Amino acid sequence: MQQFFQMHFIKRPLPAWTLSIALGFGFISAYAISLLSRPHSSTQHVAAGGVSAFTLAIVILLFFTVLLVIGGGVFYAPRILPALRKPAATEASQNKMLAQTGALLSLELGKVLGIIRARMGSDESYAISLANAQARLAELPTPEQVRVIVGLLVAENHRMRLDSANMTKQLDASRLQIEGLRMRLERAQEVGLQDALTAVGNRRCFDVALLQAIKVADGSQAPLSIIMGDLDRFKTINDQYGHPVGDEVLKFFTQLMVASVREGDTVARFGGEEFAIILPQCKAHEASAIAERIRHRLGAKSLTIRRTSQDIGLVTASFGVAQLLPGEHAENVIARADGALYAAKNAGRNRVALA
Ligand code: GH3
Ligand code: MG
Ligand code: MG
Repeated sequence: MQQFFQMHFIKRPLPAWTLSIALGFGFISAYAISLLSRPHSSTQHVAAGGVSAFTLAIVILLFFTVLLVIGGGVFYAPRILPALRKPAATEASQNKMLAQTGALLSLELGKVLGIIRARMGSDESYAISLANAQARLAELPTPEQVRVIVGLLVAENHRMRLDSANMTKQLDASRLQIEGLRMRLERAQEVGLQDALTAVGNRRCFDVALLQAIKVADGSQAPLSIIMGDLDRFKTINDQYGHPVGDEVLKFFTQLMVASVREGDTVARFGGEEFAIILPQCKAHEASAIAERIRHRLGAKSLTIRRTSQDIGLVTASFGVAQLLPGEHAENVIARADGALYAAKNAGRNRVALA
């Protein structure tokens, strides 16, 4: 009540007219009462034991003054009391709101921390700073401190969300990029190791495959043979029927070789119209038999270009076979097989020679 009066009179004094009416009414009432209580002229004035008109007027005046004050209090109390209560209510609601926000932020930060921890196991810097803030928030000190912490958390959370989104985008972009690069690399490797015309391995592919095969053969003591095959008088086919027909013959020869070898054998275009076959776990005589089979199939009947129905007659090839010697290098076994091929050519072509 004391606070109410202080607030009331300091901030909003009662209007002057209210006071005037109350005082005026009080004086009129006091005067009327004094007239009523005045004895008749015939009556002996008795002072003792009676109440004077002045005293009565003062009492009535005080009574109205008190009424005025109470009336004013009743009139202003509803306006002032909410104002008095407001700071306390606001503080409570603010604390409640901050606590709720803190809890939500804590929850949200927990989620984000989980995401970051799951996604970036090694990078804990954000997580640590946010966890510290989270711990400080849980203490809920003064509203102002909580407000500051919440502000920091909101900023940190915002930054982390952006970072997280960027990180996800970057990871997705990186994943796509890596996937694209992997496919490109695979394709480049395929292209780099594949012969464009015949679709079998090229010379580089052959070199890599042979080194690998020699390594395995050396380690397992298993036999390894290679066949070098070369079309006979191929230049005349080109000259007689044209280069595209020559290409078709090269493709046909390649398919025939691929169809004639075992799974695990490697057919490669060694260069020009010369081919090489790597035959793991294959002895020289077995490789010779395979070469003979190819030679026989090729020279069995005359070739006709399907597209043009052009008959180009018999096409033959010569072969040189060599089995890897213990400790022998790739170049040496190739040279020996090549030497056998040269011998087959010199011996009249369309034959298989063993190194
Ligand atoms: P030999 O029996 O002694 O092997 O005689 P050859 O005519 O087969 O050998 P030569 O080395 O004299 O000629 C090889 C020919 O192969 C020459 C070249 O134009 C041809 N040639 C090489 N690569 C290709 C190709 O990709 N397509 C075509 N159509 N011809 C090719
Ligand atoms: Mg040739
Ligand atoms: Mg040749």
